[in-house]
Amino acid sequence: MKKAKKNVILTVIHGVGYRLNQKMQQPEIIQTNFGSVSVSFFPYDEMNSIAFISRHQGKRHVPPHKINYKALIKAAEIIEAPVLAVNSIGIMRPIPLSENFKGTDTHVKPKTFLSHPFFIPNDFIDLTNRAGTFFDQKTVHADMTDPYCTDIRSLLRSALSDCRLSYSEGIYLCTEGPRFETKAEIQMFSTFADVVGMTGVPEVILAKEKGLCYASLCVLTNAAAGLSGESITADEVKVSVSNNQNQIFEIISKLSEILSQRKKETGKKKKKNSQCKCRSAVKGGKL
Ligand SMILES: [Zn+2]
Repeated sequence: MKKAKKNVILTVIHGVGYRLNQKMQQPEIIQTNFGSVSVSFFPYDEMNSIAFISRHQGKRHVPPHKINYKALIKAAEIIEAPVLAVNSIGIMRPIPLSENFKGTDTHVKPKTFLSHPFFIPNDFIDLTNRAGTFFDQKTVHADMTDPYCTDIRSLLRSALSDCRLSYSEGIYLCTEGPRFETKAEIQMFSTFADVVGMTGVPEVILAKEKGLCYASLCVLTNAAAGLSGESITADEVKVSVSNNQNQIFEIISKLSEILSQRKKETGKKKKKNSQCKCRSAVKGGKL
């Protein structure tokens, strides 16, 4: 696949319950050293397209701990566009809402997450047992001071505000899964993180190792164990993402519009105008 042909402005790596837009082109296969990845392209405008990669590739839903994260990120590297990950999460504690929200709520809470489903992680805690590096043969320490691209996060905030959508920001904790967490675990986790999910790590780490600009738009799909008085089900997660998918698509379109606008203004060689440090994340970490 040649990038020039597709002119991809944004790569979206998404999860469950995501019904692809009707204008989506037939999926193409990108071969990587780690396996093949199916990618669908959406013609955003005459010049640009958006690449969509399903995290759970294939007809059968690949469970979070079995996802081929290296192949997904390698494919994103080949596509050569900033990455927006879409992840489902559970809320563990009240989180302050964005300033653009003019209603009476000040926080999104485990009982009100349906009204404020969008969350942008600015940091993460990794409690998985997954192989989270491309550097198995040599020692390279990637800088994780800002694990999620500061530039794309800022554009994502603008996109959400332009769409008149509230959001919250904070710390994402990733568990191994596939089981949901226990009540005792949530009680402990909620003292040091805001939300919990199973698919954010090692994707974000691998993206950083590749120097990709990578941010995540998380969708609150449930209250974490013990916070709603009811059991958590996979259907609940799927239905919640499904209900929000028009808005998710709207946010992706707006973000693409902002990126496309900026590309027009700065030209294709915007490397020197880059406002983040993603490209140099492993520069000082090689031994
Ligand atoms: Zn970046």
